[in-house]
Amino acid sequence: MIKVGINGYGTIGKRVAEAVTLQDDMEIVGIVKTKPTYEIRGALDAGFPVFASTKAKIPFFEKKGIKVSGVTEDLVEISDVIIDCTPGKLGVNNMAMYQNHGTKAIWQGGEKHDPIGVSFNALTNYQSSINQDYVRVVSCNTTGLARTLYPLENRYGIDNVQAVMVRRSGDPKDSDRGPLNSIEPVLNVPSHHGPDVQTVIEGINIQTMAVKVPTTIMHVHCIIAELNSEPNTDEIISMWESTPRVNLLEGFIESEGNKIRNLPGTAEIMELARDSLYTRGDLNQIAVWKDGVHAFGKKLYYYQAIHQESDVIPENIDAIRAMFNLESDNMKSINKTNKALRIN
Ligand code: NAD
Repeated sequence: MIKVGINGYGTIGKRVAEAVTLQDDMEIVGIVKTKPTYEIRGALDAGFPVFASTKAKIPFFEKKGIKVSGVTEDLVEISDVIIDCTPGKLGVNNMAMYQNHGTKAIWQGGEKHDPIGVSFNALTNYQSSINQDYVRVVSCNTTGLARTLYPLENRYGIDNVQAVMVRRSGDPKDSDRGPLNSIEPVLNVPSHHGPDVQTVIEGINIQTMAVKVPTTIMHVHCIIAELNSEPNTDEIISMWESTPRVNLLEGFIESEGNKIRNLPGTAEIMELARDSLYTRGDLNQIAVWKDGVHAFGKKLYYYQAIHQESDVIPENIDAIRAMFNLESDNMKSINKTNKALRIN
């Protein structure tokens, strides 16, 4: 059993912790919190040992009656791997601490590729992380782009990709985020998403733009991929149907001779996830609208939606397996993780 510690117990950290408990080859040995706020509830209910981020913080936990098992360094010492889920750009500062204790570490997409050196997506480049000590699981948007572009690259070859990310402004719990009533473009072009895809699909020619919109539940990508030969949309849909962690959905369906709304937008897609009793109502798969897939000549147009809180969770599990070489075949790890998390 690989001993896993979670540093940073927010949106991503708590989900990774829960996913680890569902695997038979790894276990949680503790989680780090900075403050005894409401988000500690799940850790206490699951019986995860709680570590304070610093010694000075311990009394705040004790005042709330929460038993503290030590500080971050104590957790690093007893862990085989730390999943660093602290806020973006902070996590990389912990590298020296992990190195000092000889503990492997996985960071998230808020960190840059360079200081870590290896970026991970289970479908596209699992092998690069085998036996590595430090790995970064790419962001939710990059994970989504990688999952649908990789099969296209393999089957047709990609000449270039132009994509616009319509991004949620914050997670549902982030009441301090915005914009509340505005649409904000990312004025740097290309946005960081395109270059980030190149860290997991080497050499892909992709440029991206992004806008932030007042919603909390999903991102939507509008993608134009120019392929090396003319695509057949039926073939592409069936290819994606057999791609793990990609879900083909219908925006509109025929009923009594009429076209009716089925899953026209992200609100309905997340309601479907809740109806399907996925953990927390999450959707680990990338949702692609079947009826939004179109081809003109060599250009393929499609839309996909990303559940930002959860698509990277199974990727963290697979990254652990690669780093400890528990499984050398990416599809075997993906299938094992999917089965444990009930991802179909
Ligand atoms: P979050 O703000 O929900 O959680 C971060 C947690 O880390 C918070 O509980 C915070 O209190 C804690 N923290 C802050 N400083 C700390 C420290 N010094 N030591 C220990 N804990 C500390 O953030 P998140 O959304 O879970 O993001 C974590 C990482 O995952 C970031 O790199 C982010 O870019 C990436 N990511 C986020 C999403 C998303 O949509 N939320 C999706 C994919 C990847």
